[in-house]
Amino acid sequence: MGVDAVIFDWGGTLTPWHTVDIRACWRAVARVLDPDRAEDVAERLLAAEAALWARVRTDHASATVDEVFTLAELTVGPDVLTERALPELFAFWEPYTHSDPAVLPLFRALRSRGIRIGVLSNTLWPRTEHERVLQRDGLLELIDGAVYSSEIPWAKPHPEAFRAALAAVDVVEPGRVVFVGDRLFEDVHGARSVGMRAVHVPHSAIPASERGHTQGVPDAVVPRLSELLGLVDSWRVAP
Ligand SMILES: [Mg+2]
Repeated sequence: MGVDAVIFDWGGTLTPWHTVDIRACWRAVARVLDPDRAEDVAERLLAAEAALWARVRTDHASATVDEVFTLAELTVGPDVLTERALPELFAFWEPYTHSDPAVLPLFRALRSRGIRIGVLSNTLWPRTEHERVLQRDGLLELIDGAVYSSEIPWAKPHPEAFRAALAAVDVVEPGRVVFVGDRLFEDVHGARSVGMRAVHVPHSAIPASERGHTQGVPDAVVPRLSELLGLVDSWRVAP
């Protein structure tokens, strides 16, 4: 059997789950874009983002934060979005981006066993922002390969998203990969569909509207990330 790589979801898995006030987030962004019509702009941004995430869930096609701005039909130039809107967006999210304290020792322990580490995230954000927060938490250099859906045409649970993650960690056999995530649809159903073993981290309060059409059945459940290492060790030596 053996385990060549462990690939992690990011939000709600490597970071603890947070219920974020998305409307407040877009209000903050709207205030820097158009202070006089901030409420209207915020509602349009909120609706645009919700429409894109709905598309991700139904079509498994990816989306980007640039598409949110386009769909919201903002009348500001791209430089304003890059220089003012995105920094405001990321500043709002900053408190929710910190990794679980168990991640750093877990990553080190996996690497000490020669196991490769990957990340596969459904995200609207660009790689640069993800790498900034992973670098801040001392994790970036421990990750062998990461795939952010904003950079590829697909999103989890689409098999191509998982195949991209396999390629990113340079592993051929999905059966020698463990995928760890907090969502039974995108993560567990998706990973098992391509032949990976799937571990569920069940501490996220996933809204009913975000549950998807299939609730995957995980190979294992770890209530805490600190329990993952023992599980992976048991699978490494299993016949
Ligand atoms: Mg997640």
